[in-house]
Amino acid sequence: MHHMTLAEIARGLADKKFSSEELTQTLLARIAQLDPQLNSFISLTEELALSQAKAADARRANGESGALLGAPIAHKDLFCTQGIRTSCGSKMLDNFKAPYDATVVAKLAAAGAVTLGKTNMDEFAMGSANESSYYGAVKNPWNLEHVPGGSSGGSAAAVAARLLPAATATDTGGSIRQPAAFTNLTGLKPTYGRVSRWGMIAYASSLDQGGPLARTAEDCAILLQGMAGFDPNDSTSIDEPVPDYSASLNGSLQGLRIGVPKEYFSAGLDPRIAELIQNSVKELEKLGAVIKEISLPNMQHAIPAYYVIAPAEASSNLSRFDGVRFGYRCENPDNLMDLYKRSRGEGFGAEVQRRIMVGAYALSAGYYDAYYLKAQKIRRLVKNDFMAAFNEVDIILGPTTPNPAWKLGAKSSDPVAEYLEDVYTITANLAGLPGLSMPAGFVDGLPVGVQLLAPYFQEGRLLNVAHQYQLNTDWHTRTPTGF
Ligand code: GLN
Repeated sequence: MHHMTLAEIARGLADKKFSSEELTQTLLARIAQLDPQLNSFISLTEELALSQAKAADARRANGESGALLGAPIAHKDLFCTQGIRTSCGSKMLDNFKAPYDATVVAKLAAAGAVTLGKTNMDEFAMGSANESSYYGAVKNPWNLEHVPGGSSGGSAAAVAARLLPAATATDTGGSIRQPAAFTNLTGLKPTYGRVSRWGMIAYASSLDQGGPLARTAEDCAILLQGMAGFDPNDSTSIDEPVPDYSASLNGSLQGLRIGVPKEYFSAGLDPRIAELIQNSVKELEKLGAVIKEISLPNMQHAIPAYYVIAPAEASSNLSRFDGVRFGYRCENPDNLMDLYKRSRGEGFGAEVQRRIMVGAYALSAGYYDAYYLKAQKIRRLVKNDFMAAFNEVDIILGPTTPNPAWKLGAKSSDPVAEYLEDVYTITANLAGLPGLSMPAGFVDGLPVGVQLLAPYFQEGRLLNVAHQYQLNTDWHTRTPTGF
């Protein structure tokens, strides 16, 4: 049962081959048996899951249908879940039970999805390895000595290990696409504003975006359908109709113009990954796509700009965690200043403290123009590069990451080495564009992802290309040994 995709589960439930309750029980038992090796969950919500599953079965018995009705999923632990711990991977929020559901959580619950639990993540979504969680590192099911990617590493490891078919995740600078690449999944970061951020604990508000992690493009379409849409509670959410994503999967790729940026194939890229990316290009050419070399000249400035803007916004967003209103409070403070300092010093981990300091510095009077304002100007140049490219092509294709998943601990003492691994993913966040990563092969037994980027609100086009690719390749069907 655990090998089924969301699409297969929907058919099985509709045909009464099994009930949501049976499926939920099977997966909960599998999680209990296998997750100790992976550490992909922070909290399990068995009682909630079984009651949601029974309710979904009852709705089906009453004639209701829907691709998510009775489908088991999990939420990254930064989506607020009413009455359930929402930790953001931090000691700061270890005791925080959200008083309300995030819009994404509420929408998926209304569609009948069953929440099995809350998945592990880098603390406050800061990281590319899922090693900064207060709850410990997550392991990659393809090789337990390697990282699963971050910050949505728990969602990725759980789905890759067939503990469940799909999970929610968020992407501020690659945290859906990079763990998807490292664990052989399909992950989609929607256009900024497509999915509500209400109740999604903020890291860098102008970059954060929720989206689906699953094994196939077909399943990403199903989960995104349940997540997307206008939300009056989120002032950056876009009031545009949501298309039928599943209906977009079967378009022909004949004549589709794919741009491959020459800057992507520079010295930093593992040549074995470069070869797999070229193979995926050939595969899409066979399906009728036309390939064109393009240029994104300002890409080289994206990492420094991102690592100013994201910490700047984080330093502002995380000021609310002060030991007074939310979460952790230190023991026996001497006075108010001592309470603030010790609560934050003890509640936040090293990477979060580093980002807060970098961000506060970049925003301070005297340095604002030199760092923050400069970074914003680079952001505009990065966006302009994409706008020029999309005048010539329909899709941009390249590697999701320069290297496959590294060994646990290999980069944890060198933050800049880890930041450099985000080179291909962060530009889409700076520009607000949708991006997708899908399986493209293996290097030393570790999965490799190919990234597709599209113009604003063209999530359907990304899913279409990925689905057609997956109908003609079998990388996405490979299963890690032992799972
Ligand atoms: N690795 C990036 C960072 O640490 C991206 C994280 C994310 O997308 N949440 O900021």
